[in-house]
Amino acid sequence: LEAVEGKNGEDKVSDAKAEVNEIQKGKAIWKKRCVWCRQSNGVWEYGAIQSTSGEESFVSLSNGNVVKASTSELLPANPEILEGVNDIIQLSYLNEPSVLHNLKYRYARDMIYSKAGPVLIAVNPYKDVQIYGKDFVTSYREKATYSPHVFAVADTAYNAMMNGGVNQSIVISGESGAGKTETAKFTMQYLAALGGGNGGIESKILETHCILEAFGNAKTSRNDNSSRFGKLTEIHFTESGKISSANIQTFLLEKSRVVEVAAGERSYHIFYQLCAGAPPALRERLNLKMANEYNYLIRSDNLVINGVDDAQKFHKLVEALDIVQICKEQQEQAFAMLAAVLWLGNISFQLIDDEHHVEALADEALTSAAGLMGCAAHELMQALSTHRTRAAKDNIAKKSTLQQAMDTRDALAKFIYASLFDWLVEQINKSLEVGKRCVGRSISILDMYGFESFKKNSFEQFCINYANERLQQHFNRHLFKLEQQEYELDGIDWTKVDFEDNQECLDLFEKKPLGILSLLDEESNFPNATDFTLANKLKQHLHSNSYFKGDRGRAFGVRHFAGEVLYDTNGFLEKNRDPLNSGLVQLLSSCSGQLPQSFAKKMLDKSRKPAISSDAPKQSVGTKFKSQLFELMHLLEKTTPHFIRCIKPNCKLVPGMFEEDLVLQQLRYCGVLEVVRFSKSGYPTRMTHQDFAERYGFLLLETSASHNPLSISVSLLNQFNVLPEMYQVGYTKLFLRTGQIGALEDKRKQV
Ligand code: ATP
Ligand code: MG
Repeated sequence: LEAVEGKNGEDKVSDAKAEVNEIQKGKAIWKKRCVWCRQSNGVWEYGAIQSTSGEESFVSLSNGNVVKASTSELLPANPEILEGVNDIIQLSYLNEPSVLHNLKYRYARDMIYSKAGPVLIAVNPYKDVQIYGKDFVTSYREKATYSPHVFAVADTAYNAMMNGGVNQSIVISGESGAGKTETAKFTMQYLAALGGGNGGIESKILETHCILEAFGNAKTSRNDNSSRFGKLTEIHFTESGKISSANIQTFLLEKSRVVEVAAGERSYHIFYQLCAGAPPALRERLNLKMANEYNYLIRSDNLVINGVDDAQKFHKLVEALDIVQICKEQQEQAFAMLAAVLWLGNISFQLIDDEHHVEALADEALTSAAGLMGCAAHELMQALSTHRTRAAKDNIAKKSTLQQAMDTRDALAKFIYASLFDWLVEQINKSLEVGKRCVGRSISILDMYGFESFKKNSFEQFCINYANERLQQHFNRHLFKLEQQEYELDGIDWTKVDFEDNQECLDLFEKKPLGILSLLDEESNFPNATDFTLANKLKQHLHSNSYFKGDRGRAFGVRHFAGEVLYDTNGFLEKNRDPLNSGLVQLLSSCSGQLPQSFAKKMLDKSRKPAISSDAPKQSVGTKFKSQLFELMHLLEKTTPHFIRCIKPNCKLVPGMFEEDLVLQQLRYCGVLEVVRFSKSGYPTRMTHQDFAERYGFLLLETSASHNPLSISVSLLNQFNVLPEMYQVGYTKLFLRTGQIGALEDKRKQV
């Protein structure tokens, strides 16, 4: 509307305004007849207006009922020819029920992929839809089909890289269980098919999924195979388009899962796989028991996943480790670390004095853990039973209480596991670093955890949502640019529409010194800080920020692009500091095992001071994550991005069930409705002059001599009094505002 006002000072402006207003208010609906009518349960029902008094209408619903509804609350439905279109941007009416209906219509026909302009939407089928075989690869490769598909996205990226010499990225997002990891795998499968044949590197890349999923995925309440880390896979190609090497970067593994698992969930798959699948000789060397004998695993009371054979998975894993050239000796060292973690969890403590100090029991758990790590049992006992205070400079070891001892034990287990994960990624990368890299010949695939908002949100959600806020900005800015480019390329005069940017929300996180991350770091450096002092500090400095919301007690809220989230500061400081006391670092350095030594060395290298005094403040988890995200954005900004938004159609993880509210919420969260809204503010319908003339040309009253599609199109628009504000004529296409095609379709039907 603003664009209309900005361009014209003539009388027509008021006409146009009235028309647009009418459409917005819904009054123009009666002419369209087909509408969406919201039911008391919140569900939109499709129907047709039978009669109307203007204010109120009687609508005959598709279920046979006739209901009275306020006309302004009805939303126009799209004409039949637009039923189930490939790209929802083609819809004449882009309201929420129309978008939902389109996805649902397609989903019911196993068309799980749709487009929303430049974005691919993938709705998880929860069943084998048989669309990933070789025949499909060939079809997309030979451009025999254009229906939306993850292969089409990969193909576009590959061709853009080959033809333009520009690095590409495929950014996959969506909530847990939506299908990101599967989608990422299909993408790589397609790229491997296109760029394979260069020494088998492509099969190595595909094998890495199995390894990283074993170590980084777990059963959660939302997904039996949930990735508990973010992952960027960079695939490099030769000049001629063959895969030459690859590199994997991971983000923020959820360490807490190693020592505590919620009811109904599991720890990382690898523990169960190892316990179930290790051959007898290995079991003996590792003194390995079954999963139900380990405290870290049994607390959740959930040891198996329906339909998953952990022992068989273990054999697959070993094969994959062989393929990525992790030698048998290294494999055994890694398994020994896993067994050590499990035994650590079984270590218990006994009281040794009247001041509640404890000492680790010298039992099988202690000796096994120590043996696997390569240290003496008494050294491990000593390290677990003492802690060091930072208050005094002299760094003296003090006896621990039960809570302190258990925390130390768990911190050691988490540290070993996370270090093992990093080590594994490093080994995989060494094996994938084969050929040399060429400029402008890479495709990066990002499988990043999506926006999360639960009843209780902790530091993990805080980091995840911060990452999503960053990615959303990247998404917005890119689409905005794309849209503008398309208008400009076709010679359209487009008064720039302001695009909502989330920079202010990002500032709330990142600003120094008064952003949440900085304040959190500052508070993390005070030994006496608590969750409450942190919450108060945030409230004190940020209360006037419109993206921040102070709450009672320990909580605070952030207004994210996808909605407001309330965070509980409980555990924020500890998780941000992620401490490992110097006694443990010393212990690991003195272990005879190669892996514990290298883990300790890494830790010391990261500390600011190179000496053993590793109590010197190291980089906090939040700050490290922030710089990792900055690097990621830097990398993505140098690529041409392609976006895939995965949608979870139901929470029961079953095929054939499409829960509208759940889908709608995700469309909002992942910014798809934002794309739609954005397109709506411009000219969402685009048709080539040729297509337009072919479809509506027969409606022309005056048969003009011209067969030129452009002049036929313009004559048609004049004949039907389509207001100049409602369209623009580009060099190749006609750009129409929302609702225009619907009106023309009605005219077409009347003939
Ligand atoms: P998380 O964030 O928890 O890692 P995710 O988005 O990566 O979740 P996936 O693990 O990819 O989710 O998918 C969850 C499950 O959904 C898969 O294990 C698989 O059973 C099913 N699934 C996802 N995509 C497809 C698909 N295209 N075809 C068939 N099944 C699928
Ligand atoms: Mg995943």
